[in-house]
Amino acid sequence: METTMLLTLFLSEKDFKVTADITFDSSFREKQFSFCINNDISILEIKANNHPVFYEISEKIQPTFRPLLKKITVANKEAIKTITIIYTGAVAYSPENQSCWHNIITRDITSLSWYSSWYPQNTSVKIIHDKVVIPKGDAHFVVKGIWDEARHSWEYGDKGYDPFNIVMYRKEKLNILSNQHMNIFFNDETIRENAEEFMSSYLNVLNFYNGNLFAKKDIPVLDVACVFPAITTGGGYRRKDFMWCTTLGSKKEETAWLNAHETAHIWCSGAKADTWEDWLNETTAEWASLLFALDSENTALFDFIVKPKLQRYSFLPSIQSADGSRPDGVHDKGTVLFYNMYKALGIDAVRKVVRLFSDLEVKTTTSLLSALHADKRNDIAEFIQEGILQK
Ligand SMILES: [Zn+2]
Repeated sequence: METTMLLTLFLSEKDFKVTADITFDSSFREKQFSFCINNDISILEIKANNHPVFYEISEKIQPTFRPLLKKITVANKEAIKTITIIYTGAVAYSPENQSCWHNIITRDITSLSWYSSWYPQNTSVKIIHDKVVIPKGDAHFVVKGIWDEARHSWEYGDKGYDPFNIVMYRKEKLNILSNQHMNIFFNDETIRENAEEFMSSYLNVLNFYNGNLFAKKDIPVLDVACVFPAITTGGGYRRKDFMWCTTLGSKKEETAWLNAHETAHIWCSGAKADTWEDWLNETTAEWASLLFALDSENTALFDFIVKPKLQRYSFLPSIQSADGSRPDGVHDKGTVLFYNMYKALGIDAVRKVVRLFSDLEVKTTTSLLSALHADKRNDIAEFIQEGILQK
């Protein structure tokens, strides 16, 4: 048996109450257990082996991307087999405090994720299986949830990534647009046109990328949860076949760019994102988008992507940093380096390097340069070698 956590989530129109049941692996013999949770959440009760148990707030922690957390330590007289934590709160994204990104609870939509620490995190024992159950769910729809007709509840979780990522719409206010590649979920009827545009642009992008610019892959159906107008700032994120966003693009170019760039990351990824090597992920994803624009003869899109970078790049440091850290603006600087390559060596040189990077086994600049030499494209390799040092 492995350690599991089941959250039963009761939602009102502005806050929640949760019962978290943790069942430990039978090899677990400890009398202590600790976890972290959003500092604003009120703990109502904690039980160990079904009896109320002593606990204390042992520490406050300020992690990156998440709000202030409190660390709670539970001490029991006997070895712990189960822990039950009952708590309540109202996590909400605050642009002023830069906290609880992407989280909100309203009548029409609820969005809860890792970013608010609304569930026990940093647990002293690794949770292997996780699940969220939302009882009395008839009036709602949970993205990627499974509806349990017998229990009238939604179940979500155990996907191996982004646990407890709940986006729940009130059915009465839910719009869905679907085709064989994607589902888009949104509240606000006024953005239907943007959603339609988003869907058709995704299709065009996939046609250009999959088995053409890049190697052919099986792409799972993408679920897009748009939370406009509940949240309108703070960007979005994508995890495998789930995309969370505040906007589907308010103009055609923005929509196409959003699709082309995010979709390119299916192939353009793998270089270490917290080092200067991240220029590879971002430059190739951006240039996949620009190649898409060139292929579809969409000058407006090409300019929309490249122009702001051309204005900025000369104020930015070189791509390769002395200490290996990720320099400011590495994304823009790389895009302009390839723009100059496109002007000097032609479109095929850029196509070649974008494709080569996506096919690399070891995603580093050194192995990209070796692959170019092996391919007898010393001209491209030299261009990059010089370019990454340029101020
Ligand atoms: Zn990116």
